[in-house]
Amino acid sequence: MILIDTHAHIYDSQFDEDRESMLHQAEKEQISQIWMPNCARETIPGMMALAEQYPDRCLPMMGLHPAYVNETVDEELAAVEDALNRNAFMAVGEIGLDFYWDMTYVEQQFAAFETQLRWAAEQQLPVSMHTRSGHDRNAFAEAADLIEKLALPGLTGIFHCFVGTLDEANRAVDLGFKLGIGGVATFKNGGLDKVLPHIGLEHLVLETDAPYLAPVPHRGKRNEPAYIRLVAQRVADLKQISIDDVARHTTANALSLLPALYANLLPG
Ligand SMILES: [Zn+2]
Repeated sequence: MILIDTHAHIYDSQFDEDRESMLHQAEKEQISQIWMPNCARETIPGMMALAEQYPDRCLPMMGLHPAYVNETVDEELAAVEDALNRNAFMAVGEIGLDFYWDMTYVEQQFAAFETQLRWAAEQQLPVSMHTRSGHDRNAFAEAADLIEKLALPGLTGIFHCFVGTLDEANRAVDLGFKLGIGGVATFKNGGLDKVLPHIGLEHLVLETDAPYLAPVPHRGKRNEPAYIRLVAQRVADLKQISIDDVARHTTANALSLLPALYANLLPG
């Protein structure tokens, strides 16, 4: 069994004390790749250091996270663009809309999101998208509306931390995107038990979003890539299939998103 964690912030300071053993544990759990979403300028050095140290296992993305959009958005986007032009990345991410914390810079969030979607399409890179609702606004729906309106050729990627309804899941699939399934699938009140049984395995990828959103029984504690097996098991239970089937399909789905540059990382 080979698993891929398609979204983990393993450069986060919460791993400073035990990063080596955390990665070793992930290896023991047969997690062959960990995809690292960037957040902002401040997270680039730590992420790139890991990417250099583990070029076959820890794959970096480049992007500005919507929760980091504020009055410095222009400088932040310039740093993302500069990095995209100088280095190889497996995706543009994480990008999107966050209506949960603060609505002050929503307009700038939309502009930053659109700019980065265009960069992804130009460079033929997939995107990792964050869509967190709040303040009575549905971030998934507004992101889907924008993607539909832009209709950028070849644009694909992942709705990371998908927690929507069955209709929304089908809309994401129709737009040509995968659903990133993480720890929320294991939560009693998570709602994915009503969605996953009706969505084909070919549309799912697995993720932890470490250090956030740890699956049951670690809920509320620090999350790490090794726990992705708990998510895989939950998907298997909900779909009444084996964990090996879940692993085989979700890993193949994830690999299908990788740009050609990373083709040498396909497990044999
Ligand atoms: Zn994230």
